[in-house]
Amino acid sequence: MALAGYPLMTAGRSFQLEGGATMKRHAKLLQTKVKVCKVHPAGRGHFEVVSPSGSTYVVVDTASGLICTCDWAAYHDTRSRPCSHALAVERWFSEAHGRLASFWSTPEDAARQHRRTRRVGTGLWMTERLAR
Ligand SMILES: [Zn+2]
Repeated sequence: MALAGYPLMTAGRSFQLEGGATMKRHAKLLQTKVKVCKVHPAGRGHFEVVSPSGSTYVVVDTASGLICTCDWAAYHDTRSRPCSHALAVERWFSEAHGRLASFWSTPEDAARQHRRTRRVGTGLWMTERLAR
C-alpha cells in the first residue's frame, strides 16, 4: 500500500511524495506552505485561500469536512488527504480560537508536543497550543 502523499503546488502543478522519511519532511514542508497561504472568510462556511503564487481557491466547510477548488482536490478526497489550502483553513480556525496549529506526520511526533491533537488526514496530525 502506498503511503499517502500530500500536494505540493509548484508552478500550478501538484505532485505527491511517498515514503516514511519523505512524509516526515513533508509535514514540515506542508506546515510552511500552510503558513504562507492567506485565508479570507467569505461567509456561510466559504473561505478564499490565496496561495503564495497568487492563485485563489475556495475552501468550503461542509458537514463532512473541508473541500477545495484546487487541482489536487479535484483528484483527491481532501477529507483524508487535505491540500495546503484546506489545512490553511484548519489553521485559521485554530487562530480564531486563540491557538497556533502545527502539523506532524506521526502520532508519536504529535504526542511529544503534549498538546491538543487531532488527526487531519491520512498520516497527518495537527497539534494546537495557546497563542501568546
Ligand atoms: Zn486546495
